[in-house]
Amino acid sequence: MILYKNASDISRYLSEKSASGQNIGFVPTMGALHDGHLGLIRHSKLTTHITVCSIFVNPTQFNDPGDFAKYPSTLDNDLYLLEKAGCDLVFLPPVTEIYPDGTTLPASYRLGYLETILEGRYRPGHFQGVCQVIDRLLGIIRPGTLFLGQKDYQQCMVIKKLISLKQYPVSTQIVPTFREDSGLALSSRNLRLSPEQKKAAAGLYRSLQFLKAKVLAGPLRSLLREAEKIVTDAGFSAIDYISLANRDTLEEIGEWDGQIPLVALGAAFMGDVRLIDNLILHP
Ligand code: AMP
Repeated sequence: MILYKNASDISRYLSEKSASGQNIGFVPTMGALHDGHLGLIRHSKLTTHITVCSIFVNPTQFNDPGDFAKYPSTLDNDLYLLEKAGCDLVFLPPVTEIYPDGTTLPASYRLGYLETILEGRYRPGHFQGVCQVIDRLLGIIRPGTLFLGQKDYQQCMVIKKLISLKQYPVSTQIVPTFREDSGLALSSRNLRLSPEQKKAAAGLYRSLQFLKAKVLAGPLRSLLREAEKIVTDAGFSAIDYISLANRDTLEEIGEWDGQIPLVALGAAFMGDVRLIDNLILHP
């Protein structure tokens, strides 16, 4: 496994590989790697010639400075896991390689409706930061295939929009969410939970499963109330949203016609750790 810190060095190396017909698979991460991340690496290894993983905790996507300061870092273990998983290249840039002109950037991506709802609503500026880092990384790595986790459902849609806005010649593969046996979605932020909190945090997924089991055509408000109660009863201190939305557009749905493809999404705080999850309900 080769480790690069310099953007132009890795770019040069990979453009030679692309020129010789090799498909480059790319897995962007913020480190503190777990089986979910490694699942993306495995998918890339199965379908591409070279797998590149980046580890970069992107300062511009944190709307909460406390969350950025406390973001877990386990670099030695990350490199060990990547090597073991057969990752070919790791890109580990310092902030100046990604943002040579500084991290104060204008909100220049026209994401429209997508950044006004759900995560966009509760984390203002977050998706502009995601686009800034992914735009820069795609420009450096120039992958043929980009691997993303369904765990970050709205982020997948935002990145697809970025790719179409900037006309990057890259395809995306969305990999299903890896979970603990309890149902809790694997997340780097789980490292900040106590064992009791981790157990309780499975309540978020349980509420989404409840929605999947109970959803029927008609008004959804009282069902959503019941789902929120499952989250609160599990021990979450606050809920940002538990929502049902059109799976293709993310438009929130208050009354279901029984036809529109549906996804359930949730975001809630276990102590001061904010967790998100989602589940496809229909079809
Ligand atoms: P992160 O390091 O949290 O920025 O995540 C890097 C990539 O891994 C993103 O595409 C995430 O959606 C994906 N990912 C994170 N957690 C999981 C999970 N539990 N299952 C599958 N993919 C995940």
